[in-house]
Amino acid sequence: MKIFYDRRHLLHIPKKEMDNGKWVENADKPDRIEAIRESLERHFGFSFNEPRDYYSSYLYLVHDHDYVHWLKKRSEGVEPGEEYFPEVFGYDKVFDTGTPITRNSFFAALNAVSASLNAVDEILTGETIVYALCRPPGHHASSSQAGGYCYFNNAAIAARYFQKYTHGYVAILDLDFHHGNGTQEIFYADSTVLYVSLHGDPEKFYPWISGYDWEIGEEDGVGYNFNFPLPGETTGTDYLRTLEKALAEIENFDPDLLIVSLGFDTHKEDPVGHFSLEDKDYYLIGKALKDLDFSIVLIQEGGYNPDANMRASRNFFAGLL
Ligand SMILES: [Zn+2]
Repeated sequence: MKIFYDRRHLLHIPKKEMDNGKWVENADKPDRIEAIRESLERHFGFSFNEPRDYYSSYLYLVHDHDYVHWLKKRSEGVEPGEEYFPEVFGYDKVFDTGTPITRNSFFAALNAVSASLNAVDEILTGETIVYALCRPPGHHASSSQAGGYCYFNNAAIAARYFQKYTHGYVAILDLDFHHGNGTQEIFYADSTVLYVSLHGDPEKFYPWISGYDWEIGEEDGVGYNFNFPLPGETTGTDYLRTLEKALAEIENFDPDLLIVSLGFDTHKEDPVGHFSLEDKDYYLIGKALKDLDFSIVLIQEGGYNPDANMRASRNFFAGLL
């Protein structure tokens, strides 16, 4: 397996976020990715490839021009060390108060996109499993708004980029604890990209606005969007049973590429997610993906306890490889 990792993610340090009306520490910290890198290095001896940079024009595969321009200008306008939070919803193209904009936000997010596109490049030249170990995450970013620590939708841009060269069909399997509202929005009317997500029930958990099982797509996309909301404290047994149903939909679609939005915030020790998955469950999740036998691009999303990430990633990749 090839891994793309860009150490400049260390420069992306959002400090705070608003939670229930109070300022708290922002959970998207660099050490959550460093923990995974260390774990994979130690247990598998992987090396890490530095991705080459892509121009920001690739963002338009998915994102509106107005949004890209706004984020770039907004980032440039923030003093180093300061953070900007949305003040005017609508004008400010951020849908929550968890996603501060810093001087570095635009380029940090673009670097994560580059890592994801490098991963697709490898698939196009014959690799079968490639991992973009990157942050900030992407699946909450819609075509025109940031949110949920996400600025650009790495997985969605990777899917469109693959299609640009192949006209192939892509399935996106979202295993993060939270529903990928951004990814769903982008492909909601599209029958060439299947979106399948397992996540905490949006009636109780972020992002609340989407992730219900009756959201099945619209227009051409009807039947190409599958949500599997699960209750809080869901255990590995129930999760894996649901994963089987999700994978059956993907097998039925028979994609040319499977993109996995990989979140470890499903772990019972994660401070943000609310499932009860244990270390050993990740081995079985990895194994289930291996059995599918598709080309896979893995793109890192959430996972906010470095220690749990270390164990979850070790087990996941042991099962997958
Ligand atoms: Zn998440």
